[in-house]
Amino acid sequence: MKAVVLFSGGLDSMLALKLIQAQGIEAIPVRIATPFLKHEEVEWVKPIEVSLGEEYLELVKRPKHGYGKHLNPCIDCRIEMYRVAKRIMEERGAEFVVTGEVLDQRPMSQNYQALKLMEREAGLEGLILRPLSAKVLEPTIVERKGLVKREMLYGIRGRSRRVQLELAKKFGLTEFKSPSGGCLLTDPSFSRRLKALMRHKPDFGIGDVELLKVGRHFMFEGWLVVGRNERENSRIEELAGEGDTLLSVEGYPGPTALLKGEGLELAARIVARYSDAPRGVLVTVSVKGRGRLTVIPMEDEELRKFMVL
Ligand code: SF4
Repeated sequence: MKAVVLFSGGLDSMLALKLIQAQGIEAIPVRIATPFLKHEEVEWVKPIEVSLGEEYLELVKRPKHGYGKHLNPCIDCRIEMYRVAKRIMEERGAEFVVTGEVLDQRPMSQNYQALKLMEREAGLEGLILRPLSAKVLEPTIVERKGLVKREMLYGIRGRSRRVQLELAKKFGLTEFKSPSGGCLLTDPSFSRRLKALMRHKPDFGIGDVELLKVGRHFMFEGWLVVGRNERENSRIEELAGEGDTLLSVEGYPGPTALLKGEGLELAARIVARYSDAPRGVLVTVSVKGRGRLTVIPMEDEELRKFMVL
């Protein structure tokens, strides 16, 4: 018998995988990345990798079931992940799906109502087994048929990690991250930037999201991203697309910056502000492919009007 295991690399999904393998079931681990979520590599698991792209952005822009505390559309996101798992389950001839979800561990997507709703919307009713919480949930089809031994599963509920840590010890797992620790949509400062981008450019794409992950951000008629170190400067150059403008300061150390849209002079004054040029002097800013501009660096008071915090 085979089961698709949604595997994030966090402790709960590792334990779910171990618990299902302990019953002699062939596990097919699947790891799903989103534009906002990168997983840690886990040496002992080689999962099928699936990346959600532009279609995922649609659910972030207009989540049917709303956002959590920040811009995390966890219910819609999980439904999408369940759908991927269902597709792989059907392709690989597996009987059910396994997740590391724990009842009431996370307020938005792991309460009883949400778990039921997500299963229903993904067309997986009765087919998602959650080994860590199975005993406090209704038996799934495979449990009812006796194909999975319910007595070997757990009844964990809530946020305490005590049982998971004991289980980790039992299975010899020593390296793991907290659940969903890597999702930028739960990060308050990234969510603020994303909100600003949604207002500024409602039809934003994957390239815009990548840009949002680096640098300082300023929004006016245009959107300016200013590198904070060498690594970010290089990344900004890599991300520059057709129609974007790259700026840098001449004669003083300073950042690389990328402007999308209008407002070149204002952008140049901001870039000059982040260079080592003394305040109040004229600074030459080079505009890649378009010559140069001489400007006075922007004062901090004015800068704050445009900065996305
Ligand atoms: S935390 Fe991020 S990856 Fe996890 S369910 Fe929510 S939106 Fe999806």
